[in-house]
Amino acid sequence: MYFDPLYWLMIGAGMALSLWAQFRVKSTFAKYSRIPTSSRMTGADVARRILDDNGITDVRVERVPGDLTDHYDPRSKTLRLSDPVFASPSMAAMGVAAHEVGHAIQHAQRYAPLGFRSAWVPVANLGSGLSIFVIMAAFMTGGMATAMGSNLAWLGILLFATTTVFTLVTLPVEFDASRRALATLERGGYVSQVELTGARRVLNAAALTYVAAFVTSVLTLLYYAFRLGLIGGGRSRD
Ligand SMILES: [Zn+2]
Repeated sequence: MYFDPLYWLMIGAGMALSLWAQFRVKSTFAKYSRIPTSSRMTGADVARRILDDNGITDVRVERVPGDLTDHYDPRSKTLRLSDPVFASPSMAAMGVAAHEVGHAIQHAQRYAPLGFRSAWVPVANLGSGLSIFVIMAAFMTGGMATAMGSNLAWLGILLFATTTVFTLVTLPVEFDASRRALATLERGGYVSQVELTGARRVLNAAALTYVAAFVTSVLTLLYYAFRLGLIGGGRSRD
């Protein structure tokens, strides 16, 4: 499989897109990290203010080590902001902090795609862990050419598809969080129009990484389905 040019053509395209998206998010974040906001509010200040404005008082804001490790944890109701966001009064920090608050607001308002994504995490973890073994077993037993192989092929594809579903449902969750973030920043009067543009660019670049993850997952799924003979009759025994 790893010597298969088709594998590299399809999955390589997804990987290239992911790398480019990661480069874009890092460079955009770095650029707008250097531009301070006029309000001088740090990422942590902005997060606390927006949370309070939305009546969310039971969510804690904490500092977490690393770069771009910012996230909202719905189980402990904790919003964790990375070092370059937590204490920085920059456009980038403001955008990221507001985005994470967007997730906290989704949680407080029981936004359905977020609930589904959280519930789906264990399913996708199990599916991705098992799929590779089942797909290998399907290849070794001849794929769609044998009864055993075809059962394993379908099972393997189904298991892998659980991760594709996860990357798909992540898209509305992430886009909605950024939409809420920008709307809240604008409504709350925390930022000027110029600053809003900076925050928007950072969030758009971050959104691209989720699109890249989805595209990569779909391409991987199609590759397995094609090589196992589920689609297109491209069965191979390698
Ligand atoms: Zn997010």
